[in-house]
Amino acid sequence: MLTAKPTTCIPSKSILMNRSTYDAKLKTEVQPVTKPVTKTGLITKGVGGEYTVVCDGDIYICTARGVFRNRQVTPFVGDHVTIDTNKCSIEDISPRKNMLRRPPVANIDQVIITMAAAQPAFNAGLLDKLLVIAAHEGIDAVICINKYDLHVGSDAAFLPYILAGYPLVKTSLEQNIKESKNIKESENVKNGIHELKSLMDGKLNVFAGPSGVGKSSLINALIPSADMEIGDISVRLRRGKHTTRHAEILTLGAGYCVDTPGFSSLEAEGIPAEDYAALFPEFLPFIGQCKFSDCIHDRETHCAIKEQVGNAIYLVRYQSYLGFVRKAREGSR
Ligand code: GDP
Ligand code: ZN
Repeated sequence: MLTAKPTTCIPSKSILMNRSTYDAKLKTEVQPVTKPVTKTGLITKGVGGEYTVVCDGDIYICTARGVFRNRQVTPFVGDHVTIDTNKCSIEDISPRKNMLRRPPVANIDQVIITMAAAQPAFNAGLLDKLLVIAAHEGIDAVICINKYDLHVGSDAAFLPYILAGYPLVKTSLEQNIKESKNIKESENVKNGIHELKSLMDGKLNVFAGPSGVGKSSLINALIPSADMEIGDISVRLRRGKHTTRHAEILTLGAGYCVDTPGFSSLEAEGIPAEDYAALFPEFLPFIGQCKFSDCIHDRETHCAIKEQVGNAIYLVRYQSYLGFVRKAREGSR
C-alpha cells in the first residue's frame, strides 16, 4: 500500500473548474491585488515635491517615497529613477555620476561652453576657467562660438582649443533672430545649429557662459518649444523670472538639454594646484614624463610639459595653466 504523500503539486479542484465559473469566483472571492509595476526613467522636472519622470516616452508625475525624506535624500532633475507606476512614486534613485550645484541637476554628460565672437568680446580666460571646471566635474565640453556673424579678423584665438581636442562649433543666430523661429533647415546647416545639435545628440547637455552671448537664443533655435526669454539680463532679473525658476530638462532630438545655464567661474576655487595639469587635455600625453615626479610644470627643469610649449601645447594655454596653479598655491598658503 502506498502511504507516502505525493511530492508533486496536484492542481486543486478549484482550478479545474470551467473558465467562466472561475472568473466569477475570482471577482467575488478574491481581493484584487495590484502588483507593483516598476519602470525606470529620467526626472525631467521637479516642482513642489512633484517630479516629472519620463520612461520610454511615457510621462509620469510622481512623488518621492517617505524613505528618501528620512534618509535626507532629495531627488534631482537628471536623476535616473525606478518608479512604481501604480502608486506614481519614486522607489529608487540610481547613483549619480556628478551633481551640478547651480542649477541643481544630476548626471550631466556635456556642457556647451558658449562664448560670443564679439559683443561681448571673446574671453579666453573665462573659457579656460569653465573648461577646467567641466573637466574637474568629469563633464565633457563642447565650445560654441556664437555671434559668428559679428566676427572680424582671423580664427587664431580658437586654434589652441582645436589643437587641445575640444569640439568647437561656430554658430550665428542672426538669421533666426530676423526671421523669427521658423528658420529653414538649410539655414541651420549654414549657421552651425545643425552641427551643434548633432554634438548634443544622445547626451544630457547644459549650457554655460557669460550673459549676453546668446545661450537662451541658442536653446530657442535648437528647441523651438523652449520659449526662453531673450535679451537684457538685468531686465530679466528685475522681473525675477530667471531667478526663481526651476531647471527643466528639454528633449532635443536624441538627447536632452537643461533649460537653465549652469556653471560659474567661482566653482574653480578649491581645485589643488597639482590637479590642474590633468584638466588640460593637451597636457595629458606628457604627464609623468618630467624629470621630477612631483613636477608642477612651473619653474622645474627637464619638464616634459614646458618642452611642448609652442609645439603640442599653445603658449596661451600654458600661461593660462600657470595662472591657475599660482593662484591655487597662493590660496593654499
Ligand atoms: P544669454 O544671456 O547668453 O542667454 O543671451 P541671449 O540669448 O539673451 O542673447 C543676448 C542678445 O544677443 C540678444 O539681443 C540676442 O538677440 C543677441 N544674439 C543672440 N545670438 C546672436 C547671434 O548669433 N548674432 C547676433 N548678432 N546677435 C545674437
Ligand atoms: Zn613638468
